[in-house]
Amino acid sequence: MSLKIFDSHSHYTDSAFDADRYELLTRILNDNVGAIMLAGTNVADSLASQKLALEFDGVYSSVGIHPEFASQTEGDYISALEEISRCPKVKAVGEIGLDYHYPGYDEKLQKKLFESQLELAKSLDMPVIIHSRDACADTFDILRRYRPKGVVHCFSGSKETAAEAIKLGMYIGLTGVVTFKNARKAREVAESIPLDKLLIETDCPYMAPEPWRSKRCDSSMLVSVASKIAEIRGISVENVINATSENAFKLYQINK
Ligand SMILES: [Zn+2]
Repeated sequence: MSLKIFDSHSHYTDSAFDADRYELLTRILNDNVGAIMLAGTNVADSLASQKLALEFDGVYSSVGIHPEFASQTEGDYISALEEISRCPKVKAVGEIGLDYHYPGYDEKLQKKLFESQLELAKSLDMPVIIHSRDACADTFDILRRYRPKGVVHCFSGSKETAAEAIKLGMYIGLTGVVTFKNARKAREVAESIPLDKLLIETDCPYMAPEPWRSKRCDSSMLVSVASKIAEIRGISVENVINATSENAFKLYQINK
């Protein structure tokens, strides 16, 4: 049985992996993981992700500034991201979007950053990785205007919102949350959306699925996310892993 997972969103540049990053990636890429997308969170992290992607077959990266870093972003960040994106391992712009979760956020600045990076994605002909937290209405307003191709990562909305995102041309990224006991909304999304619009992701080092909840997460654990989705949809795990992997290759425009 060949199970090759595509982890469509991860952060292996995180310090949680400092002790064993290379050993871990080597091991999981030799096991049940076929491909991994490293999501950039600011200029320095986008460069670190690009460099890490160059070290491994099957590992790709994105360039982008996460809305949480909006206030720390200075200078010509678009040119800096564009420069990093010239590497053939860079396949997307992200993670970008809006995050109104913590008090004191600068809505205007986040929107400016988000829109300028949507423009960048368009000019590079790359898909986008969208981060949206407590900012659904504004995120969708902007997506409606720009109509990028991409994924709403770590999707936490209702099945109705997922359907709306798909109508706008987006894929839906589901994490380990779908395996949590009280994750009714995530399970409804997993059940209702078309299989050809679904991606699976760790967002690691966080969000380890059951039975590893609260441990450090890595891409090999996605087998449990795929099993849960398979159970919910009444299809096989292989079917979920193959379909989500195909979807990610297609979205990120990667030739296998
Ligand atoms: Zn992320």
